[in-house]
Amino acid sequence: MPDTIEKRCLEKGLKMTEQRKVIARVLSVATDHPDVEELYRRAVAIDSGISIATIYRTVRLFEESGILDRHDFGDGRARYEETPDEHHDHLIDMRSGDVIEFQDPAIEALQQKIAERLGYRLAGHRLELYGTPLEDKDKAEGD
Ligand SMILES: [Zn+2]
Repeated sequence: MPDTIEKRCLEKGLKMTEQRKVIARVLSVATDHPDVEELYRRAVAIDSGISIATIYRTVRLFEESGILDRHDFGDGRARYEETPDEHHDHLIDMRSGDVIEFQDPAIEALQQKIAERLGYRLAGHRLELYGTPLEDKDKAEGD
């Protein structure tokens, strides 16, 4: 699997230390939206010398370089994902915390229209939907 984040870092001229490479790899293979503590758990499994402070510094650097997107899915924790080539929005399952990615051309067009109606050229947007599953298959008993 190609480590796309490391490649982007090199393109941006960032100096890649061994620890940064590990963090870049962890982020590249992530298919979810991990927070710093989860990134730390995954990174120390590869290199036990990595500190949580290093994770914080590195994700901030990657974010400032336009390599990572930071999200807040309503629980006050910053979550990260590689800046996607194609825009998508997120639906957050409030029960499980799962994050589902989606794209909807109608929503994109509508936002464009709203901005124009208000006299603006749309430069971007953030959209998070919060919900619970319609089908309550596994109603936890006693939980
Ligand atoms: Zn996403």
